[in-house]
Amino acid sequence: MNALNPVPPKSHLPSWLLPQDTTPWDMFLEQVTRVEPHLGSLGRWVETLRRPKRILTVDIPIQMDNGTIQHFEGWRVHHNISRGPAKGGVRYHPEANLPEVMALAAWMSVKNALVNLPYGGGKGAIRVDPRSLTRHEIEHLTRRYTSEISMLLGPDKDIPAPDVNTDPQIMAWMMDTYAMTIGHLSTGVVTGKPVALGGSLGRFDATGRGVFLIGVRAMRELNIPVVGARVAVQGFGNVGGATARFFHAAGATIVAVQDQYGTLVKDSGIDPIALRNHMKRGGQFADFIGADFVPHDDFWSVPSDILVPAALENQITAAVAQKLTTRLIIEGANGPTTPAADDILNARGIKIVPDVLANAGGVVVSYFEWVQDFSSFFWGEKEVDERLQTILDHAFDATWALHTEKNIDLRTAAYLLACQRILYAREQRGLYP
Ligand code: NAD
Repeated sequence: MNALNPVPPKSHLPSWLLPQDTTPWDMFLEQVTRVEPHLGSLGRWVETLRRPKRILTVDIPIQMDNGTIQHFEGWRVHHNISRGPAKGGVRYHPEANLPEVMALAAWMSVKNALVNLPYGGGKGAIRVDPRSLTRHEIEHLTRRYTSEISMLLGPDKDIPAPDVNTDPQIMAWMMDTYAMTIGHLSTGVVTGKPVALGGSLGRFDATGRGVFLIGVRAMRELNIPVVGARVAVQGFGNVGGATARFFHAAGATIVAVQDQYGTLVKDSGIDPIALRNHMKRGGQFADFIGADFVPHDDFWSVPSDILVPAALENQITAAVAQKLTTRLIIEGANGPTTPAADDILNARGIKIVPDVLANAGGVVVSYFEWVQDFSSFFWGEKEVDERLQTILDHAFDATWALHTEKNIDLRTAAYLLACQRILYAREQRGLYP
């Protein structure tokens, strides 16, 4: 399917007809198609979900430390802004591409509506391998990118945040560049900033905390005790690392961890704090003595109770879904499971807690940060954590109830709640002119 001409599929395709090299945007379109029959009269507006509101592609030239000029390609996509300003992260990745950013923006629209934040969905990316750049070059890249997309940004227009390979320092540079552009400081233009610059306590680990909190709720429904549960985590960055630490602290056993360079397994449990300290000292998975380093693909065959994909999209394909030996998947990453894999897992009775619910903790605390920035009144960490728990519990309860009431999978239930909110807002606002 052509990313720039996203003609919707006319019917719900059987999984064997879905393309195996599904792009993230194809996945999103299929997810919309699956929820469409449940939308009732709001279905009249569904086409709006299949068309991003706006797409900006930018060229980002920077002078490298050796004096040469290099050009990078970047994007900022607003998927839907019916419910409020666009909100979503910025990713730096060598394989970033437009259909991926479109899908990531769309998943933010759904997520923000599901947890009922007053936001639409947006996302940005630069196609770059940040490991090949110096810190100085990354700062220039970030500042030029921010300047190129500045016509879209603003605390009441579009509020970026960290995603894969971006962090609080990059948010500080974005905030500063935006301040230079408009002539005054506006802390609420980005979230996930350092706490000293208007960031929120609890934001750094918020996504992992949310994955854990939602995971525990789902485990309770399925009668899986947390203490002793075998947990496998793909990705050991911001989301995967924090998720592993929260589960470990609650008494679960981290039986496998994978990052882009390799896989670690240990039946009796990997200590995620020891692994994090080892990585901070410049170590690699391969030389960590607290677990066995095994071939990359072995990760998917490690028996577990809980599997947390927390790396990238498109990881649990139909082929992976056939061989998984787990009971519950909690999606820390955005879009890790293809629709074809969804069908197989649903048929196998393996529950999937979808990304738009499981990893919403990050954007919820980003919302708290934005609110605190507006009032210049900052909350304690306890207050942040309690409010996060309340919002996530509410979203979990509503999703689980709809899933049982309508006998639909959790992803379709979450999409139904969220898409109804987006399309209802669209309907109430009406069409201009
Ligand atoms: P990150 O850059 O901090 O970490 C990414 C991790 O994934 C790294 O450990 C990396 O080695 C690993 N990885 C990359 N490619 C891999 C591969 N092919 N196989 C195995 N591991 C691989 O990124 P992050 O912020 O933790 O984001 C991870 C996922 O969570 C993304 O899908 C992101 O969109 C999503 N997410 C992030 C946030 C947030 O607040 N940071 C919020 C919601 C969702």
